[in-house]
Amino acid sequence: MPLVKAQCTNCGGTLEVDNTKDAAICPYCNTPYIVDQAINKFNVSNANINIQGANINVSGHLDADTMFENWLVTKDERLKNDFLYYYATDPRKEYFTIWTDNGFLNPNIDPDKAEEIINRCLIGPRYASYRDEMLAKISKMRKTKKQDRIILAVIIAVLVALSIAALLGYQIL
Ligand SMILES: [Zn+2]
Repeated sequence: MPLVKAQCTNCGGTLEVDNTKDAAICPYCNTPYIVDQAINKFNVSNANINIQGANINVSGHLDADTMFENWLVTKDERLKNDFLYYYATDPRKEYFTIWTDNGFLNPNIDPDKAEEIINRCLIGPRYASYRDEMLAKISKMRKTKKQDRIILAVIIAVLVALSIAALLGYQIL
C-alpha cells in the first residue's frame, strides 16, 4: 500500500493517502475526497519547490528532464505544450498519449500498451516513484476492466438464457 502526500480538497489539511484507492475521508474535517484530486492539489501547492530547484538551460527554458518531471508533478498542460515545443524529438512525448488533456489517465487506453509506454518513458531512479505509482494504477485499471468483462459476459449469458426460455415457452404453448 504506497502512501503518498495529498491535500484535503475541502479543508486543505495535509494527508497521506493510499494512491490505489479512489476516494477516502479526511481525518480533519470528515469530508470525503477523490484521492487523485487530493494528490493533485498537494502537488500543485508544492510545485514551486520543484521549479525553484530546476536547472535552466542556456536558451532560458527548463531542461527536458526537469520540464518532464514538473509536468509529472503538476500535469500542467502548459508544461506539456512547452515540452512538446522545445523537445519535439524526445521519445518521452509518447507518455502524454496515456493522459487526457486535463491531467487524468485516459480511461480508454489499453493497459498493456500503457504499461509498455510507462516502462519506456519513465526510466531510471529519477522517475522510479512515478513509474511504481503508474504501474500500480495500470494494474488496478486492468483488474477493473477484467471485472467489467466478467459482468458483461454474465449479463449476455442471462439474456441468452431468457431468450431460449421465452422461445421454448412459445413452442410449448
Ligand atoms: Zn479535510
